[in-house]
Amino acid sequence: MTTAKTIFQKIADGEIPAKLIHQDELCVAFHDIAPQAPVHVLIVPRKPVPRIAESAIEDQALLGHLLLTARRLAEQLPCQRGYRLVINNGPEGGESVPHLHVHLLGGRPMHWPPG
Ligand code: AMP
Repeated sequence: MTTAKTIFQKIADGEIPAKLIHQDELCVAFHDIAPQAPVHVLIVPRKPVPRIAESAIEDQALLGHLLLTARRLAEQLPCQRGYRLVINNGPEGGESVPHLHVHLLGGRPMHWPPG
């Protein structure tokens, strides 16, 4: 059985356009289409892990790579005063695209608790 590609898989495969700012063998990063902050970038693994709850022990290095990529990108983007990394998981976690992604948000003060 083949599973339909998610929109993020299509972006990673170059099938639909996105404002890409980074790509390597494990992940791509691009500007969010509906930014919630002056900096809003998504870091997306090429491997179609649906969500963090479905990641596995063999994804350990990949998960670390996503965070270190987010850190590197944050250093290059206008969020020197701070930023937030977010992973939404499941319906009550605010997940809308079932393909794991890390949100990098910055460029304005972040509030706590989050909505
Ligand atoms: P989440 O709600 O955590 O699953 O985040 C999904 C994010 O993907 C949202 O912030 C959307 O604005 C963003 N998004 C959806 N489609 C696209 C797209 N084609 N290009 C860039 N960002 C997108």
